[in-house]
Amino acid sequence: MAKLDQQALHREMTVWRHDLHAHPEFGFEEERTATFVAAKLREFGLEVAEGIGGTGVVGTLTRGSGNRAVALRADMDALRIAEQGTAPYRSRTPGTMHACGHDGHTSMLLGAAKLLASEGGFDGTVRFIFQPAEEWGRGALAMLEDGLLERFPFEEIFGLHNMPGLPVGHFESRSGPVMSAEDNFEIMLKGLGGHAARPHAGQETMVAACALVVNLQTIVSRRLSPADIGVVSVTELITDGTRNALPGMARILGDCRSFRPEVSAAIEREMRRIAEGTAQAYNVAAELTYTREFVPLINDATLVDEALAAARAVLADDAVGIAADDAVRVAAEPMTASEDFARFLDHVPGCFVFMGNGETAPLHNPAYDFNDEALLHGARFHAAVVRRRLASG
Ligand SMILES: [Zn+2]
Ligand SMILES: [Zn+2]
Repeated sequence: MAKLDQQALHREMTVWRHDLHAHPEFGFEEERTATFVAAKLREFGLEVAEGIGGTGVVGTLTRGSGNRAVALRADMDALRIAEQGTAPYRSRTPGTMHACGHDGHTSMLLGAAKLLASEGGFDGTVRFIFQPAEEWGRGALAMLEDGLLERFPFEEIFGLHNMPGLPVGHFESRSGPVMSAEDNFEIMLKGLGGHAARPHAGQETMVAACALVVNLQTIVSRRLSPADIGVVSVTELITDGTRNALPGMARILGDCRSFRPEVSAAIEREMRRIAEGTAQAYNVAAELTYTREFVPLINDATLVDEALAAARAVLADDAVGIAADDAVRVAAEPMTASEDFARFLDHVPGCFVFMGNGETAPLHNPAYDFNDEALLHGARFHAAVVRRRLASG
């Protein structure tokens, strides 16, 4: 087993990351990215399967005789955001950019594959999962429905996301709920539009819609237990009215977050009751469409301890120069953002961690860029997790 030059690996990952950043692809369109990933994995000597759940890629690496299998996951998709950055490797696709750092996640997992293929240090099988369409919350399910677990079985799974504001080299996670479910809703109010001077002659929907937006605020404040976390956000109100014509139609759209299926169900139930009741009070009709986009991400307690121990092991290396006691932390609170990684945790236990991206623009901001200083930390973290969970001898 050849010991890799880690600084050389860091430079190589940086080149990959810039290449991926310059060529961002939207969810389920990651053709070039998937081809790039598959070629690298083959170059490192892994078995590679492509086209899993659309553009997903799975690399398999086995060492020793152990029959346990651990999966590591990265996401490959970009966002429909126009990049404002000026880096020489900025997006060459107008209106699309890697604003969430999935270029970095993909490069780090490739780095881990190269590291583990070259150095080994584990006994068993590692599945490297590169998923499409994380931002939509559709890619993980597409891979699972394409037989991921049957064709490439594994017993546990680990993933990470970069976090602007957290210093580079720092890792954070927590057991139990980490990230929330995301539900979307649309309420359509229908009445009868008419002349702005004669509201009594029709069934206009504007005042009803405004009342409904306010009434929806009582779901969290008055219908959920104060011990439960929930968010109901109205994000759009669209009508067919014009300046001197009252609307006969109003669409109210929004987004809800929660950590327990019971809370999600309660939000939908209360929303239906309030929409129908408000509509009736204002003499219009209401129709609710409620969809569940992301499930809550629930970490396994034991595997959180294992992942954080792996992070400490990475930082214990003197060359890194970061004190593990300061840099590896249990996060105090769950986040009301969502992650498609949660779908895998419906099937196997696992752990999702946050890794510092330093003082960069926020995620999904047009000025955001993944921090290349973090690349080696991420690759080494992935490798350390494998070496702990598939310890040889
Ligand atoms: Zn994102
Ligand atoms: Zn992301």
